[in-house]
Amino acid sequence: MIITLKHGTSDQQMNEFIDSWKQKGFGVHVSKGENLTILGLLGDTSSLDTEMVSANPFVDTVQRVSAPYKMASRTFHPENSVIKVGNTSFGNGEIPVIAGPCSVETEEQVISIAKDVKAAGAKLLRGGAFKPRTSPYSFQGLGEKGLQFLVSAKKETGLPIVTELMDIRQLKYFDDVDVIQIGARNMQNFDLLKEMGKTGKPILLKRGMAATVKELLMSAEYIMASGNENVILCERGVRTFDNYTRNCLDVSIVPYLHKVSHLPIIIDPSHACGQRWMVPELAKAAVACNTDGLIIEVHNNPEKALCDGEQSLHPTEFAQLMKVLPQIAAINGRNV
Ligand code: PEP
Ligand code: MN
Repeated sequence: MIITLKHGTSDQQMNEFIDSWKQKGFGVHVSKGENLTILGLLGDTSSLDTEMVSANPFVDTVQRVSAPYKMASRTFHPENSVIKVGNTSFGNGEIPVIAGPCSVETEEQVISIAKDVKAAGAKLLRGGAFKPRTSPYSFQGLGEKGLQFLVSAKKETGLPIVTELMDIRQLKYFDDVDVIQIGARNMQNFDLLKEMGKTGKPILLKRGMAATVKELLMSAEYIMASGNENVILCERGVRTFDNYTRNCLDVSIVPYLHKVSHLPIIIDPSHACGQRWMVPELAKAAVACNTDGLIIEVHNNPEKALCDGEQSLHPTEFAQLMKVLPQIAAINGRNV
């Protein structure tokens, strides 16, 4: 249930009102905008009578939220959430590009790629140190050492780092990580999501390969309800009946999420199509569609990459793409 307070309600009146709900066992989320204060009641509100709630002198409007996600809903929080990372932000009209290898392989590799993607205009560096691989015999990532190499690249270039966490026991290595990625395979690992709620770091939450948009939002809700509202959603393609691409990029998610949620949504064209030659076109489509950011795999020697080489752009291809994106972004009045 969403309660909008009347203009002029004092902080004391608001706090007393909030306390009265808490005493009844509800959680209350407060969203204080410039002109409006919106309270979201969390819990089972089905037995509440909206007329009774409206009768309160401080209440302007009362609205039931039919969506099962509340904190992630735009009704709850009409303005875009802006998630600041380093010198850039997701959700405020910029289109930050996250780029880097699928996996961290050596210190030289990640530093070299970091320098190249930074020179091309990337705002964040990606790189996996803990890798979710389909086969237990495939390269699983360098683990803690990989994170140290990422941190070296951050020190060299100043680029904030984004890397995947698969298990809460890995969190102790993540102090210098700027954005924690929860990958497609863990999108519904609810205990992990609750732990992410306690970290306070921005979380990049990737859509599961067979997850509905509602399920993605419910997973975001887990993180938010556990105390962390810094969630960036990521579309990375879903499985369909067809397999001419690795996954099927669902660009419609961008306008849809902009309508129903205030959280930023970014696109990963690399894992969506799985083929290098197609990545630039999909990245352009995502920008045309008003994405709030991109995450793109770049490798300095894709043929020899230990993971996802076939979908990784060479730094020169990435630089070329980065020259074109601002022209497309300009159509929507945005910057890359
Ligand atoms: C990745 O970003 O390297 C990755 C494994 O992505 P996803 O979880 O989308 O498959
Ligand atoms: Mn990958």
